[in-house]
Amino acid sequence: MASSSTINPFETAKAQVDIVADLIGLDGGLRDTLKAPKRELTVHFPVRMDSGDYRIYTGYRVQYNMARGPTKGGIRYHPQVTLDEVRALAAWMTWKCAVVDIPYGGAKGGVVCDPKHMSHGELERLTRRYASEIAPIIGPEMDIPAPDVYTDSQTMAWIMDTYSMQKGYSVPGVVTGKPISLGGSEGRGEATGRGCAYVIREAARDLGVRVKGGTVAVQGFGNAGSVASRLLYDEQGAKIVALSDSKGGIYKADGLNPHAVEEHKTKTGSVVGFPGAKAISNEEVLEAKVDVLVPAALENQITKKNADKIQAKIVAEAANGPTVPEADTILFQKKIAVLPDVLANAGGVTVSYFEWAQDIQGYFWELDEVNSRLERVMVRSYNDVHKVALDRKVNNRTAAYVLAIQRVVDAMQIRGIYP
Ligand code: GLU
Repeated sequence: MASSSTINPFETAKAQVDIVADLIGLDGGLRDTLKAPKRELTVHFPVRMDSGDYRIYTGYRVQYNMARGPTKGGIRYHPQVTLDEVRALAAWMTWKCAVVDIPYGGAKGGVVCDPKHMSHGELERLTRRYASEIAPIIGPEMDIPAPDVYTDSQTMAWIMDTYSMQKGYSVPGVVTGKPISLGGSEGRGEATGRGCAYVIREAARDLGVRVKGGTVAVQGFGNAGSVASRLLYDEQGAKIVALSDSKGGIYKADGLNPHAVEEHKTKTGSVVGFPGAKAISNEEVLEAKVDVLVPAALENQITKKNADKIQAKIVAEAANGPTVPEADTILFQKKIAVLPDVLANAGGVTVSYFEWAQDIQGYFWELDEVNSRLERVMVRSYNDVHKVALDRKVNNRTAAYVLAIQRVVDAMQIRGIYP
């Protein structure tokens, strides 16, 4: 992957706040508050490995801003997790929840580990211990974790169970992205990719970009990337010409069937080697000549080094933070429409909100209801962002941030600064 470890995502997140603070005229104190996480917890904890030895792991949970409600955000398991990365992701969750106007602040968690080289049992013990270490600061009214990179509904089930065991009763609303049998929501598994596909549809219509019969490249074939490819193919008639995962990319000029690629990945562990496709690198996936590019992997993928080579008309960020600010400027100059992460991947947290609301009421909705409510939220949010972009003559990211930061600032101001 084109990851550049020299770019600190939290510096990016703060630079983005500064751009908007200048634009809407925020004073020093308020501006600084928006650039500082409210609460950070670092935990070091032992996990018994299958060998019988114990290993120490480090985990984080950052609650960035809770002016608009309990904090919300996923937990990521990755060898490169750092506190600054988790801070940035927690800031982005704050803006994301505000863009789609759901009543949450933002948080994020991470554990420095290599889940691909851990057994099911080791992952369960790591998850349960991490969950008990962060238990004092999570809960349905305080901070609600969810899946993120290399965590899934099973991870959430373990967290829900660990938390519930400590409380002495079942607390389904402590996490979202749970299995349906434990109070998960219909449609949550697909929600990030589905929300992204809705936003692409809306933007393409406004921009006169063809999706039906148009070409798409997707970097990253995890939850968000695989679902987005499948829905763009099934529901919007797009031609998926390039796909990749952490092991490499594949290309086929007359289109790949994402269902078949998914089967291949389930069998072999990667999209690489898919029959009939040409092997390409992750960089080449980003630089493919396509109508729509969907970065759906990690942050720092589109940088000043490759921004000039991006040929897509629309870049829809299913990943968090894939484009660095200098690259944003280049893409804007090239008239490439970037649908920013805080909008394009907000479908996940939107259905997480639906899940939490269902858990709290103990009353569950059917899939049609979840998807039609998701569609309404995504279309409304896209229109809100688009309007600010046109009114202020700024790119979509800045527009989304103006909208979000203004909402967070309004909440902070009306609440007042304690004491
Ligand atoms: N990890 C997802 C995100 O980055 C989902 C967070 C959530 O559902 O709380 O948006």
